[in-house]
Amino acid sequence: MFIIDAHCDSILECYRNSRSLGIRSHKGHLDLPRLSEAGVKIQFFALFPETIYKPHWVLHRVLELLDYFWEQYEENKDILQVIVSKKDLEECLCSDKIGALLAVEGGEALEGDLRMLKVFYRLGVRSLGLTWNQRNEIADGVAEEATGGGLTRFGKQVIREMNKLGMLIDVSHLSERGFWDVLELSEDPVIASHSNCREIWDHPRNLSDRQLTALANKRGVVCINLVPGFLGPVGAGLSEFFDHIDHVCDVVGDDYVGIGSDFDGTDVLIPEIPDVTKLFKIVEGLQKRGYTQTSIEKICGKNCLRVLKKVLR
Ligand SMILES: [Zn+2]
Repeated sequence: MFIIDAHCDSILECYRNSRSLGIRSHKGHLDLPRLSEAGVKIQFFALFPETIYKPHWVLHRVLELLDYFWEQYEENKDILQVIVSKKDLEECLCSDKIGALLAVEGGEALEGDLRMLKVFYRLGVRSLGLTWNQRNEIADGVAEEATGGGLTRFGKQVIREMNKLGMLIDVSHLSERGFWDVLELSEDPVIASHSNCREIWDHPRNLSDRQLTALANKRGVVCINLVPGFLGPVGAGLSEFFDHIDHVCDVVGDDYVGIGSDFDGTDVLIPEIPDVTKLFKIVEGLQKRGYTQTSIEKICGKNCLRVLKKVLR
């Protein structure tokens, strides 16, 4: 039984607070010792540039974070493996190491240049969140929803290039129109690395049942996050988290749902899981809700693994 967490912002948190990924800390939501204790086998590490760096310093900022990640990797390569290929994936699963999948959160980091996507690819990045909440050269984010804007011509080039390179396309934070454009164009499965269900909690960051169905038809995965504001009304916690998992399973079955914590991407997590070491409560809770061991393994990691195996070269 292993866990794959499809989203955290811990690189930024560590970088800003001069925290080493390899040293156990009581600050932040995770570090390598805590990931290991929690049984997380693969952690997606998003590189998230703060809004203050947009639009003119955003590539620089993401490269800073990327360099910081590789610096941390050098210090921890005995326990950390960066996953850039199917082969890495297989090696990682047979080893004691924690796999790291590098993601950029916000396509504005490409600054409208397809070459930058290829540069990121060469530097180890294997997932791109097309937008954050704002508009960028690729598409509109959820905060621009009112314009009805989807993928731009550049955005379409990005999707085709990502399919060609073997990169995960992440639609969390993307406008709904953008979502539909991506689903129509992408040949590969698509992920929502940290999004929940609109039907359970009506928030623009959450996906409608139609969207869940489309993601599933493409054999993608929606990874439910631990942010109370995206789960339900004030006071939402682990029970609401399970309501979202239940809902995805009700609508499309248990093959298309995963976990995308958003650790270190939010100040407020659900009270039951204040950091990564308490992730076991998800396994316990799913058991209590009557999920079979097979189902739990899918939700906690195997569904994400399927998509990684399909997309990575
Ligand atoms: Zn996010």
